[in-house]
Amino acid sequence: MRIVADLHNHSRFSRACSPQLTLPNLDKWAKIKGVNLLTVADFTHPVWIKECEEQLQNEGNGFYTLKGGSREVFFIFTTELAFIYKKNDKTRRVHEIVLAPNLEVAKRLNKELDQRGFNLKSDGRPILGMSDRDFLELIKNIDERLELIPAHIWTPWFSVFGSKSGFDSIEECFEDMSKYIFALETGLSSDPMMNWRISSLDKYSLISNSDSHSLKNIGREANVFEIDKEKFSYDEFIRILKENNNKNFLYTIEFFPEEGRYHYDGHRDCNVVLKPSETIKLKGICPKCKKNLVIGVDYRVEELADRKEGYLLKDKPAFKKMIELDKIIAECIGVKSRESKKVIKIYNDLIKKFGNEFKILIDINPDELRSADSIGPILVEAIKRVRLGKLKINPGYDGVYGEVKIFSEEELGNFKPKQSVLFS
Ligand SMILES: [Zn+2]
Ligand SMILES: [Zn+2]
Repeated sequence: MRIVADLHNHSRFSRACSPQLTLPNLDKWAKIKGVNLLTVADFTHPVWIKECEEQLQNEGNGFYTLKGGSREVFFIFTTELAFIYKKNDKTRRVHEIVLAPNLEVAKRLNKELDQRGFNLKSDGRPILGMSDRDFLELIKNIDERLELIPAHIWTPWFSVFGSKSGFDSIEECFEDMSKYIFALETGLSSDPMMNWRISSLDKYSLISNSDSHSLKNIGREANVFEIDKEKFSYDEFIRILKENNNKNFLYTIEFFPEEGRYHYDGHRDCNVVLKPSETIKLKGICPKCKKNLVIGVDYRVEELADRKEGYLLKDKPAFKKMIELDKIIAECIGVKSRESKKVIKIYNDLIKKFGNEFKILIDINPDELRSADSIGPILVEAIKRVRLGKLKINPGYDGVYGEVKIFSEEELGNFKPKQSVLFS
């Protein structure tokens, strides 16, 4: 069976997260997106885990489904934790994803953290004042099936390789516990090819997740597996990730990395955006405010790379770069917001007709889309271009998302007269 897994999302209990993030809504939206393995997220939060316990039923294989829900979406117990501590005279801020084999083990971890005096109520993604290494040792002592995956490894502020508070290698961070690390989350601002330039990362499975703080962002990055139905379980899933090849792990669904919020360097407040070569010329100093620039992902990858750009690593999962369907629709009909009523109507019509978003973006022949009432040649052309990567993107920087353009103004104008439905 094909499993589309998003292993990093959030509940409504994490900071800056939508109040809509309830289990019934997660179930519903995962189905709309085409994700069939999602995380309950934030399992360290006492109120949230109680909701999970009440609303989910155990499928007996490490996965859970919503009672009275679609039963097409499996949930896995994972959470994200923020570590802040000093190491080698530098303050480190690193985010980690923790995977638990079931609810009981998740609760045991919570109890242990609670006894150590950590405030788990404060946020769905609590801050722990201990090192990543010590935490990894702690979870392995609780249950060896608890696993840790470094989150969005390149983001400047909160990641294992981040320019502001990270490390230069996995070993520098995890020391003797590094042997338990088998996968890394590449984050929105990098793709597998950027990571292949660093030979010391070859031994890790590279996974991609949405880190969604709202329902619409579920699955904006994801992982696609082919798993025997009889074998489908937490243990098999971890085994496949550890195997680190493309036998069962087929491909990741990726953002165009330039669209990520930290691809380039710059200062949001100064309206300064720079590519790495320009940052080097300026010695990392903002030409406007004269303070240190926020160094982005592209720069950090270049800094740690020991291979040339374009290096291909064999037998690894492939990757497909995508733009979310509602953003594509918004550009086609010339509106700024993906929240516009017109966009939502067209989006819902398409999902109703074709099943889910990934089917539309990845699986079906775009020409089939012409059969939908709400769609014309412009959307067919847009999806073809996205699949081919024929886009113009102004890269993101210092927390600002990159800006994607599929069509020029002139092209959009040319499509207009034929689009009576889309433009009425
Ligand atoms: Zn997160
Ligand atoms: Zn500045």
